[in-house]
Amino acid sequence: MPVDTQGHPLSDETLRERLELLSARLGGATVRVLAGDLPPERAGSPQSPHLAGKAADIRVPGLTTREVSEAAARSGLFDGVGHYDASPRHPAHTHVDLGGRRPDGTGRRWAVGADDTPKGWHDDGHVQAPRSKAGDS
Ligand SMILES: [Zn+2]
Repeated sequence: MPVDTQGHPLSDETLRERLELLSARLGGATVRVLAGDLPPERAGSPQSPHLAGKAADIRVPGLTTREVSEAAARSGLFDGVGHYDASPRHPAHTHVDLGGRRPDGTGRRWAVGADDTPKGWHDDGHVQAPRSKAGDS
C-alpha cells in the first residue's frame, strides 16, 4: 500500500496523488499518514492548511524523519515541507502541504527541534542534525 491513511481523513485529491508520487520516489515505500484534515481545535493555527484538507503529517517506516523530510523537499511535489523531531507533544514526523508557495515560486520549508524550537535547513537541502541523540531524527 503506497499511502496508508490509517483512517485519517485526507480530502484533497491532489495531495493524495502527491503522496503517491512521493512513495514512488522512495521506491514504493509506504507513506503512513499520522494526521490529515484537522478540525480547528487540533490544527493549531487558523492559517493551518490542515483546516483546508491540504496538509498531511507523515512517516515512512524504514526511513528516518530527516530522510523523509529531505526527500519531500527535494521532490518539489509540495508547497510546504516541515520537519519535526520527536517532542513531548508529538512523534517525529514530516509535514507536507499544498498551502501555497512563496511569492518567488519556491517552496516553504522549516524544521522544529525536539524542544519545539526552530532549527534550520542547510543550503544543500539537508535538515540540521538533532542536538542530542534522543529520539528519532
Ligand atoms: Zn502538519
